[in-house]
Amino acid sequence: MTDAVFYCFEQAEQYFCRTFERPVVTFRRSGKNAGTAFLQQNRVNFHPMLFKENADAFLSDVIPHEVSHLLVWTLFGMVQPHGKEWQSVMRTVFNCSPDTTHQFDVKRVTRTFRYVCECDSYELSTRRHNNIKRGAKYKCKKCNALLRVF
Ligand SMILES: [Zn+2]
Ligand SMILES: [Zn+2]
Repeated sequence: MTDAVFYCFEQAEQYFCRTFERPVVTFRRSGKNAGTAFLQQNRVNFHPMLFKENADAFLSDVIPHEVSHLLVWTLFGMVQPHGKEWQSVMRTVFNCSPDTTHQFDVKRVTRTFRYVCECDSYELSTRRHNNIKRGAKYKCKKCNALLRVF
């Protein structure tokens, strides 16, 4: 995906006939956000699980969307986040329709599994649930019992 981000930058450099500093690309879970641009840090973050489930939409839409934010910041400084500068970069550089929201099913990719011990119940992530299926053991810190699937 970092390649896809850099490819967007190459397109922008051709279009504007100038160079842009490449951003840092990170992949952290970020609530409901598919992508976030951190302008002052010159960083873009993408939700790794949403990307896995929606790779096409990321390539065609989410990545150009966030890259456009960085480009607009470099070119125009502090302007409306989804204002006319951003919309024009989306349209002219990336040939994208400038929609401002990405609708992805965060709930589905971040689904949890209910586990219980002797005293409580827990929502475990898919990752922990898969670890348990592979033999990992998690204990309740309060009653010390092994968590078992509910
Ligand atoms: Zn945006
Ligand atoms: Zn317990």
